[in-house]
Amino acid sequence: MLTIDQRVEVLLKQMSLEEKIGQLNQYNWKAIDERTRSGSLLNEIREGKVGSFFNVSGTEQLAAIQKIAVEQSRLKVPLLFAHDIIHGYKTIFPVPLAEAATWDLDLIEKSARIAAIEASAAGLHWTFAPMVDIARDPRWGRIMEGAGEDPYLGSLIAAARVRGFQCSDLSRPDTILACAKHFAAYGAAEAGREYNTTDMSLLRLWEVYLPPFKAAVDAGVATVMNSFNELNGIPSSANKYLVTDVLKNKWEFDGFVISDYKAFFELIAHGYAEDRAHAADLAINAGSDMDMQSGVFTDHLAGLVTSGRVKQERLDDAVRRVLKAKFALGLFDDPYRYCDPDREKKLILHPDHIKFAREIAAKSIVLLKNDNKTLPLKKDVKTIAVIGALADSKIDMLGSWHAEGDSDVVVTILEGIKAKVAPGTTVLFAPGYQLHGVAGADQIDYAVETAERADLVILTVGENGDMTGECTSRADIGLPYNQDDLAAEIAKLNVPTVVLLANGRPLTVKNLRDSFPAILETWFLGTQAGNAVADVLFGDVNPSGKLPVTFPLALGQVPICYNHKNTGRPLHAKDTPVHASMYSDIPNDPLYPFGFGLSYTTFEYSDVRLNKTAIKNGESLRVSVTVKNTGRLAGDEIVQVYIRDLVASVTRPVKELKRFCKIRIEPGQSRNVEFFLTASDLAFCDQDLNFKTEPGRFVVFVGPNSRDLKQASFGLE
Ligand code: BGC
Repeated sequence: MLTIDQRVEVLLKQMSLEEKIGQLNQYNWKAIDERTRSGSLLNEIREGKVGSFFNVSGTEQLAAIQKIAVEQSRLKVPLLFAHDIIHGYKTIFPVPLAEAATWDLDLIEKSARIAAIEASAAGLHWTFAPMVDIARDPRWGRIMEGAGEDPYLGSLIAAARVRGFQCSDLSRPDTILACAKHFAAYGAAEAGREYNTTDMSLLRLWEVYLPPFKAAVDAGVATVMNSFNELNGIPSSANKYLVTDVLKNKWEFDGFVISDYKAFFELIAHGYAEDRAHAADLAINAGSDMDMQSGVFTDHLAGLVTSGRVKQERLDDAVRRVLKAKFALGLFDDPYRYCDPDREKKLILHPDHIKFAREIAAKSIVLLKNDNKTLPLKKDVKTIAVIGALADSKIDMLGSWHAEGDSDVVVTILEGIKAKVAPGTTVLFAPGYQLHGVAGADQIDYAVETAERADLVILTVGENGDMTGECTSRADIGLPYNQDDLAAEIAKLNVPTVVLLANGRPLTVKNLRDSFPAILETWFLGTQAGNAVADVLFGDVNPSGKLPVTFPLALGQVPICYNHKNTGRPLHAKDTPVHASMYSDIPNDPLYPFGFGLSYTTFEYSDVRLNKTAIKNGESLRVSVTVKNTGRLAGDEIVQVYIRDLVASVTRPVKELKRFCKIRIEPGQSRNVEFFLTASDLAFCDQDLNFKTEPGRFVVFVGPNSRDLKQASFGLE
């Protein structure tokens, strides 16, 4: 039997130039009108001019399209069907940023696994996920699609998602190709404005923005997508340094690279390509392999190869990579293996998937404030007023990029609360604001009157589901429209109020923090949003989420992250200079720090214990701490370990996350937690862009978030 590589070579030898180029062409199915679909498109498929479609799903439809490729084209090369399965296919899980708040790699992997099970059952082979862009600027709406600000957490989550989509065996019919996107540094768009320029030192690129991509590649990710932005003057799609030197050569990535939507064509607008032919030339010669929707490969590659502008070997390399993926999926053996309507019917929205959606949603919730033990609520409160239009919305709970998510099956927050309370409890509701505009005074008045009639208010405020995602940058990251007016009126009442935040990005909500006793960050939690929120509100689930991203106090602080540098004039130094690195009008501290999240119980940390005062290369340091549950409820705690390298040949951040674990502790019990650090955990990127260690002194911090830490110090010899 021939190996995949051998089968690829056999096929490649039979292909004409046009057929090869066809493999590198992907169309957006939704952008093709009905006439073309049933007319000229069929001919293009028959002539082998299309390698892949996206934005199309369903076994029946996909089988019909595939039939044309594998029965009517000369070489019968099957098509690849792709979709943006970002946080679920039809059963929708929390938005990726929310899932990251679980800090639970098994759960995150399982979410991607189930997404792949449903997507593959619907005939799909490939998802454009995970999005692994580090983001430190909440103005950028796509912060919602990633794992937040930290390269270590982001890398572990990137790998978990790749494992979930692909498992270790792509030939299984329930696995799909993953795609690490957007390569690279898209999350660093200047001023948080979508698609904007990024310009940064290579040190920062290597230390912060590339690690999650490297982790995805190490986890075996099958494809990578170029980002839309330019990086240091070169648009990513045509950035040879990124695509060929780093990704394909240094990291030995053997999958294929797809452009983002029409991004090859956009090289012209960037001012990098003169025309479409030039764009095709630049993109393929940089190492990008497949053209999403811009058609420049279809139109110009043949001419470029004939004229010698593009070498035959480069073209063959690109085609080889695409064919290899199709073989790996088993499509040449059975092109319909993903098209089983019975499987589709059985697996999509399967009760186990729904059950899991509720579990992961509850675990994504972050308790931001809980004065006087306001939460959890009793189920038999006499009258509860649920205030806020978002509490009654199905579609918004799905968040952006919800694939084929079905809003009809979404449980709203209001429904979740109604289903949870005791039979004698009355639940009142008032929207209080407009989801897509400014609320009138009468709407706010009605909400206030409703709240006044209750013993308890649950106020849901935040963004619409489509306020984050692609092209949703905001210059103001407070509550939208006049939701603040409503919140201010409710705060004046003498009724205990719990705030639920629904949002896909950190918001500047100091007013809420200062005005209300309890706040839950509930993001956009997907299909089971309402049940998960109710589980936490009423104490059936003790919240354990921790923020994967810093919440700024004010917009002027962004971009913001916990792992910044110290500067020469740090604010908190013992002898803080008069001219310190600070704002004159607000503190430097964020509203909520990275890693922050409370529980209905309380945890006490012992001092940090180390088994050595110094380690050498090849040795490991044991860092241990005892965590005691000092409250009355069992709870999960995410214990976090940070380090600081005090002096190095390149300045180091004030803290860097290096380890974490989630532990369950019964009330009154203590648990000893041990972490092991080795010299390689202390490595950093030097000026020559090599990761290396340097001897010196280090501080290790352990605690419940990036701010409230205990510390010890050690040396590396
Ligand atoms: C987005 C990608 C997405 C693609 C296909 C683009 O606009 O940037 O993340 O995968 O569209 O939907």
